[in-house]
Amino acid sequence: MNISKEELKKKVSEEIDNNKDKLINFSKDIAENAETGYRELKTSTKVKEIFKSLNLGYTDGHAITGVKSEPIKGRSDGPTIAVIGELDGLIVKDHPLADLKTSAVHACGHNCQLGSMVGVGLGLINSGASQYLNGNVVLFAVPAEETIENEFRINLIDEGKLGFMSGKQELIRIGSFDNIDSAMLSHATTNPEDKDLSVGGTSLGHVVKYVEFHGRASHAAGAPYAGVNALKAANIAMMAMDLQRESFKDEDKIRVHGILTEGGTATNSIPSIVKLEWRIRGRTIDIVNEVNEKIDRSLKAGAMAMGANVRIRSIAGNLPMLQNKDINDIYAKNAYQVVGEGNVKVHPDDQSGGSTDMGDLSQIMPIIHPRSGGAIGVGHGNDYYIDDYYKSVINPAKSMAMTVIDLLWPEENRLKEIMNTHIPNYTKDQYINLQEKRMGNEFHEFMKS
Ligand SMILES: [Zn+2]
Ligand SMILES: [Zn+2]
Repeated sequence: MNISKEELKKKVSEEIDNNKDKLINFSKDIAENAETGYRELKTSTKVKEIFKSLNLGYTDGHAITGVKSEPIKGRSDGPTIAVIGELDGLIVKDHPLADLKTSAVHACGHNCQLGSMVGVGLGLINSGASQYLNGNVVLFAVPAEETIENEFRINLIDEGKLGFMSGKQELIRIGSFDNIDSAMLSHATTNPEDKDLSVGGTSLGHVVKYVEFHGRASHAAGAPYAGVNALKAANIAMMAMDLQRESFKDEDKIRVHGILTEGGTATNSIPSIVKLEWRIRGRTIDIVNEVNEKIDRSLKAGAMAMGANVRIRSIAGNLPMLQNKDINDIYAKNAYQVVGEGNVKVHPDDQSGGSTDMGDLSQIMPIIHPRSGGAIGVGHGNDYYIDDYYKSVINPAKSMAMTVIDLLWPEENRLKEIMNTHIPNYTKDQYINLQEKRMGNEFHEFMKS
């Protein structure tokens, strides 16, 4: 070994810095072509093009649009780390940058993740650093982290094109993570508390609901009594779901929220089909399951009251995220070097936020999910922008690349050590079993013929 670990980290960071325009322009280009989950065709093509520019082979079509690089091989065989970037945008209709046809927009900053992911690969390949490491790195661009467009995804499930709803869930199911031992992903954030870089924190588990109320159409003025109003059934159900709130404990961090995606077709016809997409989140899966029963009762109550029918589809949502503390500690030390200790936030373990399918992955292997600054406005809002691409793309790329070097450095073999002490909650098969059990499809009939 003729180079020290710190020298190698410096070399890789310099390489990332030298290519900052390429990485930032790539991230901006992704933002200008935003697409939602399982529809990220242009986005995955752009990922493939940049992989080709690095002479990096890949396989595609992972969970429809996922692109996975060939391993960037180390000098000898060791564990394989996936550096992940999420391909999907959101739908925010009134965002100034939203696509005119689809309203897709990167209002969660996933475009920056792809830039950082490529940055790590570029740094390791161009500097020749990988040849010093005991282990491999895979760049993995994954689809559909945001749980949206439930009806579209349920149709994909019913057509047999998907087994689970979220990208990483499906990738676990089909074996795309089988050759991966550990994973990392850096997510942009608008929270000033996160400073320039942050580590730690958890996320909530959830279940996804897709609900259809079926009534009977009739003339809304001439013969309303001849119809069964599916919108009123949904109204009662929405009120009943809200009234459950007083039974929620603060410490369980329960969130119940949703949208009406179809509320009728014409004002002069009693609505016969009304659709809801809902979400139930909580600190643990048991809590989510408990609240799910209350929500199912509320949905049934709406249908029963109006004499309508209701189909309730429950789809296994994300599991709570558990980050590996040892890898987070390593990342934090590297982040100190990149942006200075005063610009790094270390979150306590009990902090909770939204949900992510990195949670699912965290239940079967050691992962980290650090955050980076540079975004402004409200996450998922119409004023969300990346204000400082250097902070959102380059800083996390350097910190992750340095963390990879620590984890695979031959004299230390830190990742091997971590894998010996890290006990995942589930094996892959246990995970699939658990999630399959959380899928439900019930039809309750109260409508008289
Ligand atoms: Zn998001
Ligand atoms: Zn996100």
